[in-house]
Amino acid sequence: MARWRWLGLCCFLLLPGLVFYERYSFDKKEPYYAVPVRSDSNVVKLRNDTYGKGYFGSSRNGNRTHAGVDLVAALESPVFASKSGRVFFAGYDKGYGQYVEISHPDGLSTRYAHLTNTQVKEGEWVNQNQLIGTSGKSGNANDPRIIPHLHFEIRYKKYPLNPTKGLLDPRAIIQQR
Ligand SMILES: [Zn+2]
Repeated sequence: MARWRWLGLCCFLLLPGLVFYERYSFDKKEPYYAVPVRSDSNVVKLRNDTYGKGYFGSSRNGNRTHAGVDLVAALESPVFASKSGRVFFAGYDKGYGQYVEISHPDGLSTRYAHLTNTQVKEGEWVNQNQLIGTSGKSGNANDPRIIPHLHFEIRYKKYPLNPTKGLLDPRAIIQQR
């Protein structure tokens, strides 16, 4: 009986250790969020058109603020997972259009919106920089005056975080056009 109690105690102590170790090794392997679109240089341009600017927190219709960043990308550009994780959602929403949400082991999640198509399924594990879809103009980006871009978000639970504040790869140079 006492032996079982010891075993139980060991498992009880070991489990949080394992969880902590996994998290630690993940953070070491993928310390930053990769830029989810590709360009010829390190420069990533943010959207700027008559409908809005692409930086985090810029104002939107109806007193809303922008919960992500709009990365300028030609139509049908490949979109890559910013970090490894599990696909939490892949489907359609009126505002986001065709979009993907990935839950990461660090407790944060990323969203990739206005896609033309998604190439992943809910529940699927994806690796950092794996192709997850192609950019487009679905949802509320479907206006000819809105320049083609990828709407990209990083969230902690329901709270949007600013990707350009220490989360995105520091080698990327984010420019507001
Ligand atoms: Zn946006």
